Amino acid sequence: MKESELREAVIATARAMNAHNLNRGAAGNVSARIGEGFLVTPTGMAYDETAPADIVFMRMDGTWNGPRKPSSEWRFHRDIYASRPEAGAVLHAHSPFATALACLGADIPPFHYMIARFGGKTVRCADYATYGTQELSQNALAALEGRCACLLANHGMLAFGRDLRQALDLAVEFEALCEQYWRALQIGQPRLLSDTEMEVVLEKFRSYGQQG
Ligand code: 13P
Ligand code: ZN
Repeated sequence: MKESELREAVIATARAMNAHNLNRGAAGNVSARIGEGFLVTPTGMAYDETAPADIVFMRMDGTWNGPRKPSSEWRFHRDIYASRPEAGAVLHAHSPFATALACLGADIPPFHYMIARFGGKTVRCADYATYGTQELSQNALAALEGRCACLLANHGMLAFGRDLRQALDLAVEFEALCEQYWRALQIGQPRLLSDTEMEVVLEKFRSYGQQG
């Protein structure tokens, strides 16, 4: 994809986050890897007022050019690209159900087999740190080990995929899963799947879908 097309696609994904009720207003941010860096949404701008020229190109050393300041969360975007070669796009949102669970500060246990979709037997909750800090990025990276999504305590959620489309799809699926967990908790104590069951599902997911 050409850089101009990728700028449009970052904006379209950010707008789609709001259309899917993953986000409201200027919360959250989206990025996509390109060349030796990445394109990221500008800080504090409404997505329906963001134009391609407002999207910020950042280098891996955290420098950027252009008229707009990058997302305050550029550190975790940068650190995911640096440490996870499979990541082509990163999405962060304050989606309602994931954020409600993140405020409990606990990992999501294997209450449903789809937990395995995100890479493991749980989806972890990263320890709280102030937004925009290197500490938050480190906590997020630790929670993402072997996973492609996590909660951020008292804040929201994060997901990454090989491209913008997959990152958005994963975020939508993750929010749906968080809603299901929240609903189950209203009516009782969810029965959890065993380690063995989750291992079977993790193995099946390795060849899930139209791959190969
Ligand atoms: P930005 O507008 O700086 O991207 O920040 C939004 C946000 O969600 C901070 O965590
Ligand atoms: Zn945030």
